Amino acid sequence: MKCFLPDEAATMLVGAALGRAMTQQHGFITLAGDLGAGKTTLVRSALRALGHAGPVRSPTYTLIETYSLSAGLIHHLDWYRLASDDELDSIGFRDLLAPGNSVLVEWPERIPIVAARSDLSVALSYEGDGRSLSAAADTVVGADLLRLWMTEIG
Ligand code: ADP
Ligand code: MG
Repeated sequence: MKCFLPDEAATMLVGAALGRAMTQQHGFITLAGDLGAGKTTLVRSALRALGHAGPVRSPTYTLIETYSLSAGLIHHLDWYRLASDDELDSIGFRDLLAPGNSVLVEWPERIPIVAARSDLSVALSYEGDGRSLSAAADTVVGADLLRLWMTEIG
């Protein structure tokens, strides 16, 4: 899947559609892209669509922010400041991927060996004044999530 997002509102619409898809399918989603590409904007909109009413902080410093929602636990991570996967072991990253949970990771490029286990790989990049988004399924679960997401985008 590939689409052009001309402005922030477009990113938010696509993020909300991802959130609606996530009410039907859980998974491990990576979000690649440069600083300011819109990764946190996308996650924030997804969390809103999943029923989270409070603020969504970038987990750049905290590494992880967890939301307990009707769709299950949603773990939002940012690996920007990670130097090695030891830090992922120390927070029990493996356990975050339990069935019924979803995991959204910004800066998966930092720890490729763990990112390789993702169900769905999303990439955002600058294109003119807007952004372009591409998404590819890595597993059967990811393919289902992508199918639901595309249906929700309409
Ligand atoms: P990241 O988490 O990738 O570093 P953020 O989501 O924190 O990026 O910031 C993205 C910035 O780009 C925000 O200022 C947001 O308003 C803006 N933005 C988001 N989507 C678009 C878009 N499609 N076109 C132009 N600007 C966008
Ligand atoms: Mg971010």
